[in-house]
Amino acid sequence: MSLKVVKFGGSSLADAEHFKQVAQIVKSDKDRRYVIPSAPGKRFPNDEKVTDMLYSFYELVRSRASIEIINEYYDKIKARYNSIITELGINLDLSGEFEYIKNAILHSSGRDYAASRGEYLNGIILAKYLGFDFIDAENVIYFKENGTFDEEKTNDMLSLELKDHRYAVIPGFYGISPNGTVVTFSRGGSDITGSIVARAAEADLYENWTDVSGFMMADPRIVKNPNIIDTITYRELRELSYMGATVLHEDAIFPVRTAGIPINIKNTNRPEDKGTMIVSQASGYDAEHVITGIAGKKGFSVITIEKDMMNSEIGFGRKVLESLEDFGIAFEHLPSGIDTMSVVVSTALINEHREKILQAITRRTKPDSVTIEDGLALIAIVGRGMVKARGTAARVFDSISNAGVNIKMIDQGSCELNIIVGVEEHDFTAALTAIYDEFVK
Ligand code: ASP
Repeated sequence: MSLKVVKFGGSSLADAEHFKQVAQIVKSDKDRRYVIPSAPGKRFPNDEKVTDMLYSFYELVRSRASIEIINEYYDKIKARYNSIITELGINLDLSGEFEYIKNAILHSSGRDYAASRGEYLNGIILAKYLGFDFIDAENVIYFKENGTFDEEKTNDMLSLELKDHRYAVIPGFYGISPNGTVVTFSRGGSDITGSIVARAAEADLYENWTDVSGFMMADPRIVKNPNIIDTITYRELRELSYMGATVLHEDAIFPVRTAGIPINIKNTNRPEDKGTMIVSQASGYDAEHVITGIAGKKGFSVITIEKDMMNSEIGFGRKVLESLEDFGIAFEHLPSGIDTMSVVVSTALINEHREKILQAITRRTKPDSVTIEDGLALIAIVGRGMVKARGTAARVFDSISNAGVNIKMIDQGSCELNIIVGVEEHDFTAALTAIYDEFVK
């Protein structure tokens, strides 16, 4: 028998109908033993997520809104849960919990505590509905004094605790700090909890249930109906997520990756779809296409430094990078010529310090010229299939040029897992679509 840890996102638990689907999914496979819920998400496009409501509630309290306004808002939050309970027909009364939480927030419990109650309450309801044990995340997920996640302590305590529960619900998103305050991960952090539980349970599979049938090969807002990726490696996923593709919280990869547990992204509304498998080694999973996915982002700037005989000046690159380090700025790429060096950076990061960065570079390197050009978009073409396929770069460049787009920058890592091209922002969609069509259509 194998063991599966299953995490359901907010849209999968937004209302009673979705709870029923979730219960069906969990109950249809005995191996699905540990369930991680998010807080109720949006039921329709303009709806509010309960987590956002809790943040707003906290702000209302802090801004000393009148007790009528505070109560009225809190009633809306209670109503979300009560309608789920009533429609599921379960015998559960959360009024004591609601009172306790309201008082805690009124009497100075922190912002994270307020937000975490979304998952906490949803966890209680789901555990009751499924007939599973409830394990409060504050007894098993630990943070350190400095606010970072305490991986080892959590893994030890959590694996011990899980041994006492054959089937359990563990709410996502939060844990506890050494001084007893509730702390949350960053937004979307229930994915991380799921991954942590999968590691501690030594699961065979971590299923992450959401509202899409997997990870798409390109952003559906840019490419119409993109294919779903069948199998992707953790490394490919890192590359694509870094460039803006999202389905899973970035930090959710690490715990399961260390333990070699695959993740399966699944669609709660279409459980029969295979979804996307995220694996550490792709052996046994042949790449369907030469490329696995394409992702991209706008909002980059290029700092170009020119100086005669730069190539023979030892330490030149270090001086340039030190000038960025002074302002706490990480760089993205360093495409360079013999006597020119370019540094690609996020425009948002340099905006505040433009003049000072130019001055620092000038002071350190005494260049012939140094300029900043904005408006660059980066596109990452990622795929383990590229290692063996000759001519991939040529196909990328041809397709972009056939779309009438000028390439401003090219970067390929020696691991041959990705090719990154920079184009002007107004060419972003045309370039990305052209690459997709070349490799996938
Ligand atoms: N409910 C939290 C959020 O909205 C965490 C999560 O859903 O993963 O960010």
